[in-house]
Amino acid sequence: MSTQESSGPARVVPNWESCIDCGACEVACQRTWNLPPESDRIKVVAMAHGTEDETNKPMQCYNCSEAPCVEVCPTEALFFRDDGTVRVSGDMCIGCHYCGVGCPFGAPQYPDAEVPEAAESEPVGARGNGLMDKCTTCEPRQEHDLEPACASECPTDALLYGTPDELSEKLAEDGVSTPFNDEAARIVFGDDADAVMGEGP
Ligand code: SF4
Ligand code: SF4
Repeated sequence: MSTQESSGPARVVPNWESCIDCGACEVACQRTWNLPPESDRIKVVAMAHGTEDETNKPMQCYNCSEAPCVEVCPTEALFFRDDGTVRVSGDMCIGCHYCGVGCPFGAPQYPDAEVPEAAESEPVGARGNGLMDKCTTCEPRQEHDLEPACASECPTDALLYGTPDELSEKLAEDGVSTPFNDEAARIVFGDDADAVMGEGP
């Protein structure tokens, strides 16, 4: 791993090699934020299902440093917070789904039902009714020094949470690299990509 200094925001990043597709992260997120069943702020996707090459990939918003969703949103409903994470203003979203098309990770969701806990947690946003909803990195939990619920409840530590430097250390401890190729790492981590990208497993 690189020892280059980095100072980007804390994010949840998966260690795909450790995911066993137990669904605990999905349940933790749904339960913590009282989300409707159709809202998938985090979703485990099985690749090569049923083969010896099967891998399970938890995916959510990575709060990209070079977020394509922020670039394509025509109403500026998506914005960078001062800490560098990405949020959506529920009252500005028009439900056009441009962000869903622009996101390379499939993070934006458009639940038809209301998202009750989110509505009480500005600037998380008040979405539902087909408007955009996504992972908030459990911002209200951070205010109580709690890790994001999904990372906290994953039984195999397949969801790592931290700044680029902290993620680099955790990935090195696990002996794995990020799940991202160079292009994806640049989108997610921006100038910190070199600090996080490892030698590869
Ligand atoms: S769906 Fe909402 S947040 Fe997404 S691009 Fe359209 S207006 Fe912006
Ligand atoms: S960080 Fe929080 S909001 Fe985001 S996927 Fe995990 S539990 Fe859900």
